[in-house]
Order: sequence, then structure tokens, then C-alpha cells
Amino acid sequence: MNSQKFFFLGFTILSAIFLVSAAVIGHLLNIQSETVFVSTDAQNVCIVVDAGHGGEDGGCVSSNGILEKDINLEVSKKVAEIINTMGYNAVLTRSQDKMLYDMYGDNYKGRKKTYDLKNRLKFARENDADMFVSIHMNKFPQSQYKGLQVYYSKNHANSEKLAQSIQDYCKQYLQSDNERSVKKADSKIFLLDRAEIPAVLVECGFLSNAEDTENLCDDEYRKKLGLVIAAAVFSHIES
Ligand SMILES: [Zn+2]
Repeated sequence: MNSQKFFFLGFTILSAIFLVSAAVIGHLLNIQSETVFVSTDAQNVCIVVDAGHGGEDGGCVSSNGILEKDINLEVSKKVAEIINTMGYNAVLTRSQDKMLYDMYGDNYKGRKKTYDLKNRLKFARENDADMFVSIHMNKFPQSQYKGLQVYYSKNHANSEKLAQSIQDYCKQYLQSDNERSVKKADSKIFLLDRAEIPAVLVECGFLSNAEDTENLCDDEYRKKLGLVIAAAVFSHIES
């Protein structure tokens, strides 16, 4: 990974939202910093960062036994941390290893997965969120497929723009060989099918591909991935 590229990315983010605090760039690049700039308007923008799966729902599994739910949570925490550092308001649907079917005390009996998904959307409504970013990992029977791909909800015009921003930032700063395109979600992706606000689901990589899996298990790579997704969100907000 070219560190100059990430410095440029940090600079781009700051330019985009008129921040001039070098300390923030430092924080994004994991350099010790003390000062964090907080914009009053930015605090009113609420972004739900949704770590997919959790608890008894592990999501997909890599050949060496890595569970999707755990990587989802690590990446989501990084995305939320960066967004909050930049002064926006990111809220995580979960910060622990659990499903969310009992989040609002409903009678979920026999329908844990449905309630888990419904509650993620309810959480966004309760927080009066402006956008919904769900973090997942992909898997495919053939191992050669790799790379991040973003799905978007058909229900709001800004969903596709947000998805394109993430896909573009990924190609520009993280995966120069990524030729994937954003994709409109069909009804099989419950969250995007039901979402009312701009909503995307980021398939960060394939746990069926050795290179993607190695990267996604590496904390430094996950920080860069978190930065790319967060920067794309800022770019979308400011566009
Ligand atoms: Zn998933």
C-alpha cells in the first residue's frame, strides 16, 4: 500500500469538508494526535454503520474458519470511529458479537433472522439516520473471484450515488485492479429492499479468495478499508 496515496486521501477528505486540522489527518493515518475538529453542521448528519450478522449468525466462513461476522464488526468499528473523528455522527447497530432480534423486546420466536434485520432498520429510524451503510463479506464457490463490491437500495435516489462513491474510492485508493461495478439490490437483500433512507451494503471482499481473506484479517488493511469507506461517505455528503 502506497502511504502517499493515503496521505492524499486524508487531504482530499479535509478539503472536501473544509477542515484544516492537520491533527485529523494524523489521526486518520494512525499518527498520534490530540486535536479533533468538530463541525456543528456535521454533528447533525447521522450515519448508521451496520456490522452484518453476529452471535449465532456467523455469516459466511473462510476456508481457514474465519467468520464473516467478526470481520464485519472490526471493519464497522473502524468506519464509525473515523466518521466520528471527523465530526459526523456515526452509530453502530452492534458493537458486540450478537444478533439483534431482541433489541426492541418483540416476540421474535422462530423468526430470529427476520427480527434481526427488521431491528437494524428500526434502529436507523429511531436514530433519525440520514444514511445506512451495512458491512459484509462475500463468498463464492470459485476461489478466483475477489474485490469489494457495493450494492444499493432502489428506494432512494442517493443510494446509487453513495454506492458509486465507495466503489470509486476503493478502486482509487485500495484496489487499483478492482473492475467491479455497483449493483442494484434485488428483494433478496432484505435491508436494502426495505430501507427508506440512502442505503448501501458493502461486500468488502471474498472469504473464498485467499488474497482477500488475508487482507481482511489484517488490521492495517482494515484501517485503510475503514478510511476508504468513511472518505467516500464524506465525499457523498459534501457532493
Ligand atoms: Zn453477510
